[in-house]
Amino acid sequence: MERKVELGIIGGGIAGLSAAVYAKRSGLESVIFEGTAIGGQLLLMDSIDNYVGLGLGTKAREVLINLQSMVSGLDLEVISKTVNDVKVNKEGLSLNAEGLNYLTKGLIIASGAKFKRLGVKGEGDFIGKGVSYCAVCDGFFFKGKDVAVIGGGNNAVEEALYLSDIANKVFLIHRRDKLRALSYLQKDLFSRKNIEILFNSRVKEVKGSEAVESINIEDTNTGQNKTLPLQGVFIAIGVGPSTDIFKDLVSRDEDGFIVTDENLKTNLEQVWACGDCRKRPLRQLITAASEGAIAAISAYRHIKGRYISS
Ligand code: NAP
Repeated sequence: MERKVELGIIGGGIAGLSAAVYAKRSGLESVIFEGTAIGGQLLLMDSIDNYVGLGLGTKAREVLINLQSMVSGLDLEVISKTVNDVKVNKEGLSLNAEGLNYLTKGLIIASGAKFKRLGVKGEGDFIGKGVSYCAVCDGFFFKGKDVAVIGGGNNAVEEALYLSDIANKVFLIHRRDKLRALSYLQKDLFSRKNIEILFNSRVKEVKGSEAVESINIEDTNTGQNKTLPLQGVFIAIGVGPSTDIFKDLVSRDEDGFIVTDENLKTNLEQVWACGDCRKRPLRQLITAASEGAIAAISAYRHIKGRYISS
């Protein structure tokens, strides 16, 4: 049995939900496929300071509550399944979501991104036993302990700042001699007494028995190795797109991000992409929300064959 809907939206983060809201308001019949939980990266965030109009220090959990009430208030249909396969055929797109089959006229991919792994010895063995990719989720377990954050971008610095209020000591370990993070974050970082920044340092191994006990790091200038005793390692070296299942469907760049035009259309007429899964210059909540809206209106124009001015 195949259920017919006008539009499928893959992903229930900000981009996918924004697309669903705009699709609903334009009268498109759509379903959102979300295999885990509504909210995407908001689930991993603490507060939001840069979404104009939301107010400084807005708590991510408050935004999540608002999203939930929007889903129920607008009667958006969320299918709690992961789409495993998408095929193009004469009638449209066939989607398989854990055994359920759908036929849609259009598809918006808003599948987001996932945390990158360092790929060093011990990392995989200690996930959940001291290795984490989310300070807001796991920081609590390291109260009064010594931890390291790996990376030099906004995420790494935000994680280090968050952890410095919980942990005894935070090492920020970066492979180069300059941070990528925004200057206001760096200023806060340098002012914290319990954060030590180790530049030009590369993690070689995460070690322990039952849980993490230390890491080995190499000085990239001298080649010397040293051991840092600690209990937690937070890896914040960026995100990679969750687009593997679309590799034979749409064009992607060399890093796997989906390539679109300015209307967010992919190389296929009936498929659009928005948010972190898409090749774009800025990955923020606010850009994800605006892209979801653009993708939905592009889908509306294509599916209904009507033009609405914006
Ligand atoms: P990012 O900006 O891409 O930074 C990744 C960091 O990890 C870089 O410092 C990079 O080093 C390092 N790195 C990458 N691969 C590594 C490896 N194999 N070993 C060691 N270090 C490695 O990623 P992000 O910080 O996760 O942020 C993702 C996006 O979200 C960015 O666009 C960011 O601006 C945005 N964001 C914004 C905010 C905010 O505005 N408040 C907060 C969080 C995230 P190099 O510098 O040497 O390349």
